[in-house]
Parts: sequence; structure tokens; C-alpha cells
Amino acid sequence: AGILYVVATPIGNREDFSPRAQMVLAEADVIACEDTRHSRPLLAAFGIAGELLSYHEHNEDQVAPRLLQRLRAGETVALISDAGTPLISDPGFLLVRAAREQGLRVEPIPGPCAAICALSAAGLPSDRFLFVGFPPRTSAQRLAWCQGFAKEPGTLICYESARRAAATLADLAEGLGAQRRAVVARELTKRFETFLADRLDKLAEQVAANPEQQLGELVIMIEGDARGDDERERAEQRRVLQLLAAELP
Ligand code: SAM
Repeated sequence: AGILYVVATPIGNREDFSPRAQMVLAEADVIACEDTRHSRPLLAAFGIAGELLSYHEHNEDQVAPRLLQRLRAGETVALISDAGTPLISDPGFLLVRAAREQGLRVEPIPGPCAAICALSAAGLPSDRFLFVGFPPRTSAQRLAWCQGFAKEPGTLICYESARRAAATLADLAEGLGAQRRAVVARELTKRFETFLADRLDKLAEQVAANPEQQLGELVIMIEGDARGDDERERAEQRRVLQLLAAELP
């Protein structure tokens, strides 16, 4: 049987397209991508021709079985998304799960991912984090959604369109606490990349007041719940005390 490669592509800067990703895509029998009109120019810029097949959230059910059949027939399939790492708020889960269930080989070709890229340079704790994808579209839904992780001690990471960022930040401030520290990373790896850091309520105001911040793509990161952190710290202290106590005569 063939191999299913899950290939990361750039999130802005084309120099981030790894040589291994290019090689795998050039050699694949078929490249499954979200939008062929979007991916064709990127691939063409790197001299990658080959068959492109459109695979997105609305046709995953129909296309996944065809790709699995081609894998079983010995073909190499490469999965990419519009940008970044497939499956991370992007299609591919159904295909990868089914391939694994059928005992097919699945190999990741790692590379850019906006969430990890943002976290790596935000200056918020990175030892523990929770990725929560895209917030819901309405304010009421967002407030309810926040409650699912309001007590999470790790750093929270979500995706959002810049257009909705101010409204979402305001809801996060209301749902999680206005004073929580947060960072907005916009246009990562691109020419106008910016990082804004402040309390959630101040960030919401800053973004609302700055039209430039309402353009492009961004990642929102919020420090975890401090009480949760205290608890973690106390648990660590208890652990150390127990270790020390064991050493006492
Ligand atoms: N699979 C992709 C990844 O690995 O990052 C994410 C796909 S998701 C549909 C698109 C969202 O990712 C955007 O709305 C934005 O929140 C974030 N994103 C993608 N590229 C970005 C960039 N260059 N700068 C900031 N955020 C970005």
C-alpha cells in the first residue's frame, strides 16, 4: 500500500516551505488540498505540478474513500491545507483516522502551524497550553464557550479572523476576566507581523481603535487561570515536601 503524507505548508512566508515538504509533494501521485485555485500557484512557484484533488469540509465524506482506495492500490497521497498544518482547524481528520484504522502508513511532514508559531514568540507560559480552535460567531455563544476552559491553568490559544478580533477579545475579557494577560499575534511570518500584549480588556480596546489590527489573520493567546496555577504550585510543593520528608531520619 502507499503512504499518506500529512504535509505542512507556509502560513505566509514562502521561505518556510521545507525542502522535504517540497520533495514529498513533487513525488506524490496525488495532492489533496482544500482549494485547488489557492494551492496551484503556491505549488507552481516551487515547480511542483502533479494531480490536485479538492478535499474540504463539505466533500470529505465522498473524497476520503477515494483517497483510501488509491492508497490501498499503492499510490502516494499527500494532504495539504490552504496554509499551515492540516487537521489543525483544517480538514483531514476523517482521512487520517480512516487510514490508521485500515492499517495504512501515515507520515507527518512537519512545518508551520500558526498556533505554535504564535506561542513560541508570545512570552506567555508555554509549558502547558490548550488550543481551542475558532470561537463561535455570536457574542452569547462565545461567552458560553469560554466557560468550557475558564479554569484551565495552561495558556489558551485560539484562532480568529482579524475582522472579528475586537468583539471576540471583548467577550473573552468578560468571560475569563478583564485583567488576564493576553497576546494577539497577527500576520505571522508576513511583512506586517505584529505582537500586541496587554490585559484582555485593554487589548480589546486597542484592536477596536486600530483599523490595521482588523485586517489579516491572527492568533489570540490568553494566560491560564491563576488560581489553577496556584493549585499546580501547591501540588508541586506537596510533592517536594513528600520527597524531602522521605529523606528525613
Ligand atoms: N492549519 C492552519 C495552521 O496550522 O495554522 C490553521 C488554519 S485556520 C483555517 C486559519 C487561521 O489560522 C486563521 O484564521 C488565523 O487565526 C490563523 N493563522 C493562519 N495563518 C496565520 C498567520 N500568518 N498569522 C496569524 N494567524 C494565522
